[in-house]
Amino acid sequence: MATGGVYRNGSSKAPNLRTSSSFKSKLPASNVRRSIPGGATDSVSGRVRVAVRLRPRNAEEMAADADSADCVELQPELKRLKLRKNNWDSDTYEFDEVLTEYSSQKRVYEVVAKPVVESVLDGYNGTVMAYGQTGTGKTYTLGRLGDEDTSARGIMVRSMEDILSNISSETDSVSVSYLQLYMETILDLLNPAYDNIPIVEDQRNGDVSLPGASVVEIRDQQKFTDLLRLGENHRIAANTKLNTESSRSHAILMVHVKRSVLGREDDFSTENENRSHSVGNFKPPILRKGKLVVVDLAGSERVHKSGSEGHMLEEAKSINLSLSALGKCINALAENSSHVPVRDSKLTRLLKDSFGGTSRTSLVVTVGPSPRHRAETASTILFGQRAMKVENMLKIKEEFDYKSLSKRLEIELDKLIADNERQQKVYENEVERIRLEAQKRITEAERNCAEVLEEEKVKCQMDYMESIKKLEEKWSVNQQKCAANGEVPLDSVNNEVIEMKTLLQNEICLRKAAEEENNKLKLQLLKFLKAELADGNIDAMNLVEILEQESHQKKKLEEDVRALRSQLSQLSTEANQSRRYLERGGNGNTVAVLDCLSPLNHLHSRDSSNGERASIVNLHEQEANQEKIVEAGGLTSLLMLLRSYEDETISRIAAGAIANLAMNEANQELIMAQGGICLLAMTASDAEDPQTLRMVAGALANLCGNDKLQMRLRSEGGIKALLGMVRCRHPDVLSQVARGIANFAKCDSRASSQGSKLGRSLLIEDGALPWIVQNANNEASLIRRHVELAVCHLAQHEVNARDMISGGALWELVRISRDCSREDIKALARRTLTSSSTFVAEMRRLRIEV
Ligand code: ADP
Ligand code: MG
Repeated sequence: MATGGVYRNGSSKAPNLRTSSSFKSKLPASNVRRSIPGGATDSVSGRVRVAVRLRPRNAEEMAADADSADCVELQPELKRLKLRKNNWDSDTYEFDEVLTEYSSQKRVYEVVAKPVVESVLDGYNGTVMAYGQTGTGKTYTLGRLGDEDTSARGIMVRSMEDILSNISSETDSVSVSYLQLYMETILDLLNPAYDNIPIVEDQRNGDVSLPGASVVEIRDQQKFTDLLRLGENHRIAANTKLNTESSRSHAILMVHVKRSVLGREDDFSTENENRSHSVGNFKPPILRKGKLVVVDLAGSERVHKSGSEGHMLEEAKSINLSLSALGKCINALAENSSHVPVRDSKLTRLLKDSFGGTSRTSLVVTVGPSPRHRAETASTILFGQRAMKVENMLKIKEEFDYKSLSKRLEIELDKLIADNERQQKVYENEVERIRLEAQKRITEAERNCAEVLEEEKVKCQMDYMESIKKLEEKWSVNQQKCAANGEVPLDSVNNEVIEMKTLLQNEICLRKAAEEENNKLKLQLLKFLKAELADGNIDAMNLVEILEQESHQKKKLEEDVRALRSQLSQLSTEANQSRRYLERGGNGNTVAVLDCLSPLNHLHSRDSSNGERASIVNLHEQEANQEKIVEAGGLTSLLMLLRSYEDETISRIAAGAIANLAMNEANQELIMAQGGICLLAMTASDAEDPQTLRMVAGALANLCGNDKLQMRLRSEGGIKALLGMVRCRHPDVLSQVARGIANFAKCDSRASSQGSKLGRSLLIEDGALPWIVQNANNEASLIRRHVELAVCHLAQHEVNARDMISGGALWELVRISRDCSREDIKALARRTLTSSSTFVAEMRRLRIEV
């Protein structure tokens, strides 16, 4: 035991109490090590702080011990307590705080509990415990509610006030459990129905919890004081039931403080402003979970004393089991023993973290002044002194608040999903727009390309047609040259070859027949000789003669065959020469041209006319005048003039007048009947003046338009006369000729359609086709139009098709179907081309498309 003047806490292990920091001091921020889940855990040492509080003398003590001095003497400024042994000797003890009988409850709170409460708010566990003999003021210190006198509020009430004023109601929470431990049984003071609550230890971190106890959330101070009051009432009721008193039981208040720490290094508030950062940068908020345990221990007086209060000894032992176990643990810890019997009692299990654990712990030991309880006081002081040696390693209780982070991330994710969906839609719209745009461009390009290709194709076809035409012309020139050089035209050579071949074939047949006959006769002769020899009656001479005749006949036939063969070979050579000659004259495509031209044969035609009536001379404009002129024998006179006069002017005027009269159908027949065609034909061949020729051509052209006069007009040389006039290249003449041909072709075509005429067109018969083909694309539009019409009319009838193909009119028809400025003629040409099987076949052969 301590001796006078010696500090009992002078062990080398004890902290230097003189120099130790104030009991109130908080841990410096730099010293506070974080214990981040998953990271390194650090801690800071924190010795159990002990204050001693002296209760003032109560009335009884005042009366009983009026003459004797207190057994303790306090030196608060020195933080010392002197425990008198007798009148002249005392032991001195030093504490972290020495609280005199005059110390206010406020001061006691600030010195003993406030630092612990602040640590709890920072995320540490904290313990405030009162130890002392019954009646020394433990409950007064911890549990006073201060209903009547607020200055009397104890540590529990003040702690909660401090906590509530320091937390945020939005992010933080406070909840409490209030328990009583009596005879190793834990009772829930907030719900006494839970009267045997187990202690559960977390195997991973050693934390203890009471999962069966009520945990009530505290939002305001009133609620808390109500709960304390309720708990106190339940405590009294329970003690009555157990026939004991509250000093025998331990009261334990547990306050759980959860604080969400925002705005640390990576402040979340900036996240919304900086959306570009990835979700991966999210750091969860820190959740600090501090727990304040306030323990109002049972009275520390010895067991035998309580035994006198009617308990059996065993019961009494059990009552104080927890307290003695606590003493043992503190002794072990103070002595740094290797074994601390924490598991010996429920109290020591519950307070495992408070002594030797991670909690910031303050102990207040309460003593009374009475010398009668000196021994108990000494024991209490000793307990306090030992507790001062217990070192805890403070450790912050914080963890990432994944729940809150998850909630936050979920919100963020939903926002991102919505954003993404919006962007996706925008993107899709953009893609669709680009696709449509591209489609449009492609279509446009395709159309342009198709147009260019079509133009190119038409151009190529025209070139092709042009070159074929040139080749044909060359071929015809070559043929003419052949004829002029006395060479046999290829066609006739071919025909002769064919004929010779046929002859040769016949001769070969004849020879074969003769040979067979010869053989037959030889056989017969042999048979006969055999028979005659057998009979001995042979006219050998006769037989020899017959044989000789036969062999002579044979030789003659063989010679014939040879001659024919030589003739054939000569003809073949000639034919080859002609062919080669033609090939040399052509440009390499001659064979194709020959192939194309070889089947030149008979054709036929149809016709149409636009019925155009061009006035030729304005002499007789009126029908009436014309009639009068004719009645008066004017027509006859005009024809006479044509016949008798050789003066060109008279001929011109007469022809002009006839042309005018020839516009009338009745006059046309009269002209015809009076031999007008022959006269006009004569004039046509004699006249030189283009205007005369124009008039004659005009008259003939008018006559050409009369269906009834077709045959006669032609037989009397009208067509030939018309064609003869093209020698004069005057466009006026050509225009009339063209009109006449178009008129004639129209009537011709009509007659064919009606079936009144068979065979090919008379125009073709009279050799008009070459001129028609030449002028179908005449530069003068009037001529061109007439000729185009004539071509179309001729093409109406299949019988003309072959001639038209061989004459090159097909090309013109194709051109008309493409180029003609008059849509009706163009359509007519197209229709004609596609309806004629001969044209269709030829176009397919020439690879021409309409
Ligand atoms: P314990 O809980 O230790 O048994 P209590 O707190 O019940 O003791 O106190 C016993 C009595 O002493 C009570 O009447 C209480 O009011 C009184 N008392 C205790 N401490 C003080 C004090 N510091 N000042 C005034 N009265 C006190
Ligand atoms: Mg009490």
